[in-house]
Amino acid sequence: MFRGFADVKILLDEQQLNKGVEQLARSINQFYGLRPVTIIGVMTGSVILLADLIRKLDMPLRVGVLQTASYRGTQRGPLTINSEMILDVANREVLLIDDIFDTGNTLNAVIDMIHHLGPKSIQSAVLLQKTGKQQVELRPDFVAFDIPDEFVVGYGLDYNDEYRNLPHLACLEADDLPGADREN
Ligand code: 5GP
Ligand code: MG
Repeated sequence: MFRGFADVKILLDEQQLNKGVEQLARSINQFYGLRPVTIIGVMTGSVILLADLIRKLDMPLRVGVLQTASYRGTQRGPLTINSEMILDVANREVLLIDDIFDTGNTLNAVIDMIHHLGPKSIQSAVLLQKTGKQQVELRPDFVAFDIPDEFVVGYGLDYNDEYRNLPHLACLEADDLPGADREN
């Protein structure tokens, strides 16, 4: 555990997250009605959102996942997409679920890849969108929260694969990062 992690800045607490996910589910229910949907969760960051969100959706749905990675710590590396586990999406209405829309490059590349599999439609839903960081034309169809440009962890989002289990969303600041006097 990083020193001082107990008092890191909480950006969204459990109650706020729950309300945001409820609102997201309402918009998605309104959009699809009772049409069947194939949900694809972009792992690993969307794992908590996926579990919470699908239990609030009313339409018949199937759930699959694909894996992307672009970060080591807070540094970006090349984007990789592993879609071996993906469900058959041909002629299906597909809803992509991701944790956060930052530059937009991840969701843009995933949509491009799914597009080639011949779905009937593709929409996207994210928990968070970082204000003013986008490098692509695309915008997610459903967004729960717009947040400032800070590195956030918790509710599925990690720092070097840790902190996904925090029930709230916290900002990881320079003092909390390795090199800054770790406890052990
Ligand atoms: P994008 O390709 O939109 O720039 O970045 C999207 C991916 O980068 C997200 O799916 C997420 O995994 C990761 N990412 C972007 N910003 C953050 C952040 O503030 N915290 C964490 N933990 N991951 C982030
Ligand atoms: Mg991600």
